[in-house]
Amino acid sequence: NQTKTDERQQIVEDNLNYTLFSWSKQKGQNPIAVKEAKGVYLYDYNGKRYLDFSSGLMNMNIGHGDQRVTEAVVEQMQKTSYVTPSCVTKVRGDLGKKLAELCPGDLNKAFFTLCGASSIENAIKLARLYTGKHKILTRYQSYHGSTNGAMTASGDPRRLAVDSQQAPNFVHFDLPYAYRFPYGEENLLKEAVESLERIIEYESPKNIAAILLEGQSGTSGCFMYPDGYLKAVRALCDKYGILLVFDEVMSGFGRTGKWFGFQHHDVVPDLLVMAKGLTCGYLPFGCLMVSDKIAAKFDDEVLPLGLTYSAHPVSCAAALATLKIYESDNLIENAAEMGKYLDAEIEKLKAKHPSIGDWRNQGLLGCLELVKNKQTKQPLVPFNASGADMDISNKIAGKLKELGMYTFVRWGFIFIAPPLTVTKAEIDEGLAMISEALKIADAEVEV
Ligand code: PLP
Repeated sequence: NQTKTDERQQIVEDNLNYTLFSWSKQKGQNPIAVKEAKGVYLYDYNGKRYLDFSSGLMNMNIGHGDQRVTEAVVEQMQKTSYVTPSCVTKVRGDLGKKLAELCPGDLNKAFFTLCGASSIENAIKLARLYTGKHKILTRYQSYHGSTNGAMTASGDPRRLAVDSQQAPNFVHFDLPYAYRFPYGEENLLKEAVESLERIIEYESPKNIAAILLEGQSGTSGCFMYPDGYLKAVRALCDKYGILLVFDEVMSGFGRTGKWFGFQHHDVVPDLLVMAKGLTCGYLPFGCLMVSDKIAAKFDDEVLPLGLTYSAHPVSCAAALATLKIYESDNLIENAAEMGKYLDAEIEKLKAKHPSIGDWRNQGLLGCLELVKNKQTKQPLVPFNASGADMDISNKIAGKLKELGMYTFVRWGFIFIAPPLTVTKAEIDEGLAMISEALKIADAEVEV
């Protein structure tokens, strides 16, 4: 056991001494040193098991360690590990065709990228090129990535940490969410659509290239679109000659119980951004799906997009193998079914824990919003919290880790987004740990 502890210690020290950690102070890190990962579990060097209740960063939809993907990757690697994007491979064509079949409407052409942010950057660039206009409208409570354009497009407080570096020509708009909208849900849709139309007029439709929205809200707080909202946004886009771009990086590939989050709303975008669940982290990858109408502009014009690793054959092979697994293992159906079970179980937790203000979920993309007071809805963690304000969330995350869970905790939100393979027994196991950790939040509730 001492040997294992020493080995773990060395690994952690090397990581801390020689690598940088995202979104955090570099001092005081206590990361899980993962030795193996299988299904919904991570295992550390001491043999401790952690339930991965947020599928890594909501990307490990098919679960960890699926050998079918590993085999497809190895096979492709042995055949052709890389070709320039101007050459073609069988896997690239097969994947393009498969995605065109999966995507609704005339979203038939794929531009393959490296991750979510690089897909967003290319979507913004293409929308501007196609329309000849420059402004991009996005929602305050959203996240689209951490590169310059994607970070500026993001509206949530992570953008403010690099406020001075924001890119020009992004306009944010507010879309209130039901839990914190005091004028009744029936007025929410009307208010949201009317205020968006006013902003379009203030900024001038002549200047607006695109409206960019998550297909289903993710790490900003899993906010639900009011019924009819996305359809109304589509209608505004059509009325004013604006492109509609959906970011399905987190909500895509079964996460919400359908292939894509926007499919709950009977609407089709002009550009569709994907990453995460496309390869489930077996290899980094992303894709921008482009409608025939937009792609046709570049039949006789140069398409000024390019990446050395665009359509990387090994990533294409990983994606093809991953897509097969969603279908053969009925994972999207399982996400929808387990989502309903999760919702029912959370109702029981809500009755037990005064700190749970709200639960928002679609399929297996959900989060608990914690409050200090259920009546006043005072948040447990203030908006735009950082530093000491986050102590309580860090304590909850630390407790969960101690109990044997990894999940994403940010501000006063605990995210629940397990792999789509999850079973009822695994959900029960996870919720028991969350219930235990919530005692920390309950102790802060004002009675
Ligand atoms: N868009 C959404 C909705 C996301 O949730 C994320 C990441 O969490 C991104 C874009 C950025 O993706 P990546 O981290 O792969 O650049």
